[in-house]
Amino acid sequence: MAPNSMSEAGTSSGTCNTVKTNKTETDAVPKLGEGEVEWTWTWRDIKPLNTTVLIYLHIAGIQAFFNMPHCWQTYLFQFIILLGSGFGVTAGSHRYFTHKSYRANSALRYFLIFLQTLSAQEDIIKWVRDHRVHHKFTDTNADPHNSSRGFFFSHMGWLFIRKHPDVTTFGKKVDMSDLENDKFLLFHKKIYMPASWVVAFIGPICICYYGWGEDFMCAYYLNMLRYILGLHVNWSINSFAHIVGNRPYDKNNSSRDSPLFGFLAFGEGWHNFHHAFPWDYKTGERGDYFTNFSCIFIDFFAWLGWATDLKIVPDAVIKARVLRTGDGSHPYSIEARKKNPNFQEELKNNNEGERDLDHFWGWGDGDMAKEDLAGVDIKHKHYE
Ligand SMILES: [Zn+2]
Ligand SMILES: [Zn+2]
Repeated sequence: MAPNSMSEAGTSSGTCNTVKTNKTETDAVPKLGEGEVEWTWTWRDIKPLNTTVLIYLHIAGIQAFFNMPHCWQTYLFQFIILLGSGFGVTAGSHRYFTHKSYRANSALRYFLIFLQTLSAQEDIIKWVRDHRVHHKFTDTNADPHNSSRGFFFSHMGWLFIRKHPDVTTFGKKVDMSDLENDKFLLFHKKIYMPASWVVAFIGPICICYYGWGEDFMCAYYLNMLRYILGLHVNWSINSFAHIVGNRPYDKNNSSRDSPLFGFLAFGEGWHNFHHAFPWDYKTGERGDYFTNFSCIFIDFFAWLGWATDLKIVPDAVIKARVLRTGDGSHPYSIEARKKNPNFQEELKNNNEGERDLDHFWGWGDGDMAKEDLAGVDIKHKHYE
């Protein structure tokens, strides 16, 4: 699809549900496969503070194995924080704030902001910007954790060095107005650093120490281990989920579907589906609870009435996309190949592969295809 062909799109209202157009968003988008990936970096590109902190966090996390806590409450408490902070990133910053795949009432919104603070994985505006840029410019120099630069770079190496200039240049073209005009999110950005220190580190350690008498250093080190584990779970989506698995929906970018990472990463491992349909609240075709914990979280709040307008890609749209751009591993492709081994070639000859290079960050991106917008299924509809 040509960039900005969705200029007429505009449907619903609401903070996280408005579809707008953005004429400048994809001007001069670097195309997939074009331009060389720049591997070169010098020691001067290294961010000393980030590097020191990340190395220290890993040392402190390993130290936890030599200072294991004495109280069972400490393990249970840290496990709950791990789950809560995971949901803050996956159901909150990812599926809600970045992709607008559902709507949330004020109470849920504040709760998600709290959980993201608990995760201590950046303030929401910064997190969302990085992720929208990743979706918009996947596998190019403008992708902050471009997996073409190797496993380590996409996993955590990108945090050690300065960003490629294209990340900043093209990042400025991505629409962030929905979040940057939100006063509370701006306030959250301002207080994020001290707030995350209190909520993610000082608070939990003190609760273990004063609450049930855990040894202070044991509580400290386990807290660090829990934090590092949470980071690696989320980093694995940028690395493993772009390297390991199939590409049933779109073989034109590096994202992959993997049931294992679906389970390990709170349901975010169905990454090829997610890159093809970033506005689907399940971030996967099936959304079964065992390999998609974040669906349990969102469905629970939908049941409470706090989450509404859960967007789902209809089966017919999925099938059309699988046949057009999939790698042939999806059951729809296998079935189609049995009937006609040349079906993909024939689609290409009919110019139906023209949307192979679609790139958009989710519900509200002006580059979203008209047929995808029109065909969406909405679960738990929001009524004004
Ligand atoms: Zn995403
Ligand atoms: Zn990705």
